[in-house]
Amino acid sequence: MTQSVPEIFGSKVFNQTEMKKRLPKDTFKELMKTIEEGKPLNIKIANAVSHAMKEWAIEQGATHYTHWFQPMTGVTAEKHDSFIHPTEDGNVVMTFSGKELIKGEPDASSFPNGGLRATFEARGYTAWDPTSYAFIKNKVLCIPTAFCSYTGHALDKKTPLLRSMEAINKQALRILKLFGHDEVISVKTTVGPEQEYFLVDQKYYEQRKDLIYTGRTLFGANSPKGQEMEDHYFGTIKTRVQNFMDELNVELWKLGINAKTEHNEVAPAQHELAPVFSTTNIATDHNQLTMELMQRIAKRHGLVCLLHEKPFDGVNGSGKHNNWSLSTNTGLNLLEPGETPYENAQFLLFLCAVIKAVDEHQDLLRLSVATAGNDHRLGANEAPPAIISIFLGDELTEVLEAIENGTGYNGKEKEYMRIGADVLPKFKKDSTDRNRTSPFAFTGNKFEFRMPGSSSSIAGCNIVLNTVVADELEKFADVLEAAPDFESALNALIQDTIKSHKRIIFNGNGYDDSWIEEAQKRGLLNLKTTPDALPYFVKEENVKLFEKQHVYSKEEIESRYEVLIEEYVKIINIEALTMLDMAKKEILPAVTSYSKSLADTILSKKAVCESMDTTYETAVLKQTSELLKEAYEAVNVLSESIDQMNALSDFEKKANFVRDDLLSKMAALRKPCDELEVIVDEKDWPFPTYGKLLFGV
Ligand code: ADP
Ligand code: MG
Repeated sequence: MTQSVPEIFGSKVFNQTEMKKRLPKDTFKELMKTIEEGKPLNIKIANAVSHAMKEWAIEQGATHYTHWFQPMTGVTAEKHDSFIHPTEDGNVVMTFSGKELIKGEPDASSFPNGGLRATFEARGYTAWDPTSYAFIKNKVLCIPTAFCSYTGHALDKKTPLLRSMEAINKQALRILKLFGHDEVISVKTTVGPEQEYFLVDQKYYEQRKDLIYTGRTLFGANSPKGQEMEDHYFGTIKTRVQNFMDELNVELWKLGINAKTEHNEVAPAQHELAPVFSTTNIATDHNQLTMELMQRIAKRHGLVCLLHEKPFDGVNGSGKHNNWSLSTNTGLNLLEPGETPYENAQFLLFLCAVIKAVDEHQDLLRLSVATAGNDHRLGANEAPPAIISIFLGDELTEVLEAIENGTGYNGKEKEYMRIGADVLPKFKKDSTDRNRTSPFAFTGNKFEFRMPGSSSSIAGCNIVLNTVVADELEKFADVLEAAPDFESALNALIQDTIKSHKRIIFNGNGYDDSWIEEAQKRGLLNLKTTPDALPYFVKEENVKLFEKQHVYSKEEIESRYEVLIEEYVKIINIEALTMLDMAKKEILPAVTSYSKSLADTILSKKAVCESMDTTYETAVLKQTSELLKEAYEAVNVLSESIDQMNALSDFEKKANFVRDDLLSKMAALRKPCDELEVIVDEKDWPFPTYGKLLFGV
């Protein structure tokens, strides 16, 4: 590398520096107003920006542009158009107008839209999101956009995310006004997503249909070694993996993505990358790009990056910790306990809004991370349970208890915590960060939502988080604005909130079975699977909430529900079909040939001498034959179950059938096959084992 990191950083991004350099002063100022304050953009400014953007992109070697958007598929979409424009003399010029920058019109009919297609026009349009910078990827100028139907219904993940950010901005500003912060003009939520992933050797990957079609192994016996030695977490990074990480970092930096931390994770072949946090919208775009680049760059190193939540049974799965906070345009973190009593009161109010929001909307938070892949993690003994609870740490919990009871804090008599009069004790980050089993943990100056799956867009969970907190802030602001005495109203509000919602606070071990019982006693929801969780989305109270906060309309929720439940069914259907394919075409034939070689050996040994010992061959042959029969029967049973599912009339029924029947039939096929893998000669086994996949890089 000849260039230094600061030189490389953002070199492929049309960022503020580049805009300032290339735009007339007035245009730049107008654009900044749009970016920072959400002011609408007029066409004159758009024309100036598009011209500057194009000139810059061409200098960078770009020939095409695209409206880059995030449909409901969970991956990003792009359709490239070149800048060329034919001239009368048969030549071309490179053009890019303000209109082309602001709006695109891709055909929306081939993206999942859960029924919006049927009732509305198929055409969709993409609209420039000036709050996320344009960038260059493979000679293409990518313009981050929102994707809507012609009737204005959101067809993507960005539109509702932006709406939810606006909702929380509005309500947080009201609260800040009450605390005298007139200087603050915007509040944005911030996110730093920690991305977990696996790397496997491409040559092994290519021999496994399950990895190719579904991103996870559907068969596979545990290798003799797993993660029990705990030697992988933070271990030395292998050269090939390090080379991958180095290249990835450079490519991310060029795109202005603050890749910061990299390390080995708990499972063999598992790793993590964390960026420095940014505003939620940008963090979401950047996380999508990070996942895309991880997969592309891995290939250059003969590796495949697995983003699935559970690529391997028996070792840890992958999540995406969503670190979340609120930040003002003046640089204040609203979840940072302050230096003065007044700041502390403000901190406590925001904290209470989050506590209340999480307690009242456990269902929405849970369903925002519900996918077929994540069902393997949540509730299993490695990821947070499917029950939502908040970890605050002992110190903060004690403070809240003291406030609730009006008693002394820290056991010290007479030292009452008076909101707005006392300074909170300084929390050491260490004391709040130790709990790793909580799904929603306060970590000193932010909350860490640990349930999201590794492959999902973080838009989903942040839309919910922003909306539910916005709604509580709105209720708080309503009360406080109307109160004759602000301070006593504030005290009462904080005290009441703690009293009514403390059941959601749990500082113990979330992996412990006793917690499940305890949570049930507290009346907390335990939505174990995706089909259990998703129907809560369309509940009347939730529809009302999203409508009130202008995040989703009723139609949008219904369509999204349909998309999500359909996606769940389709994913499991593909997995089941892949299992049948592998069992019928690979595993059963391989076992048959192996059995034949055993039988042949027995016969030839007996032919040499009738009394020749064949105990081993006979025993193994008997065992393989029994397991082969079991596997064959399981194939037929699974096949039947798939047919039964497909005969059902709607996706909700299908999803429930998957949960109640199909999944157990898949497990029943896997079991004898994995047992066979352990017995059959390794050279006869049709695909690479866990040992090779997990330790073969
Ligand atoms: P950990 O101990 O979990 O590694 P870190 O402090 O290193 O915790 O942070 C993890 C992630 O949280 C990083 O992506 C970091 O940028 C992000 N983060 C830190 N502060 C904030 C904040 N105020 N808002 C959102 N994310 C944050
Ligand atoms: Mg973390």
